[in-house]
Amino acid sequence: MLMSKPENPGNLMPRLAADCMLGKLAKWLRILGFDTWYSNSWDEGELLAGARAEARVILTRDTRFFRRISDSDRAIFIENDSFWYQIREVISGLNFIPPAERFFTRCSLCNHPLLELPREEAQARVPEYVFRTQEHFAFCSRCGRTYWSGTHQKMAKEMLEEILFPSAPEQNLPR
Ligand SMILES: [Zn+2]
Repeated sequence: MLMSKPENPGNLMPRLAADCMLGKLAKWLRILGFDTWYSNSWDEGELLAGARAEARVILTRDTRFFRRISDSDRAIFIENDSFWYQIREVISGLNFIPPAERFFTRCSLCNHPLLELPREEAQARVPEYVFRTQEHFAFCSRCGRTYWSGTHQKMAKEMLEEILFPSAPEQNLPR
């Protein structure tokens, strides 16, 4: 199984800071377990200062900003428009494959680590069909969003495998 032997222990996952053009990418990196800063209201100075303070790898699509970043900062210039290829660029730029056990451990909206939600408490928070068909639930204590495993998790795992070992013709990939 592809994801069962991560290169690094999960707690050593690189932390990231994405620029304002990379919202969709940031969301998916969080789903894959990366601690990823993103805000569409931060300016370059805030992003740079924050990334330096927490030793985060900067992700940017902005050539001018990328040039402004010094050699001592870690940064990856994202070339592609499609988030699918952008994820590939990040994984290859970091030389790090996120371990599958970290998928869905972080809120995709606000980056906060998720807490397990006991099944009996989930009943009031999710649609009836979801409650009947799902076993495991989690929630974000910051924004209140409830998560459950199932199709999304399966989709993310399949997506990552496809990113690492592409099999489909490129024009068929989701954008
Ligand atoms: Zn949240």
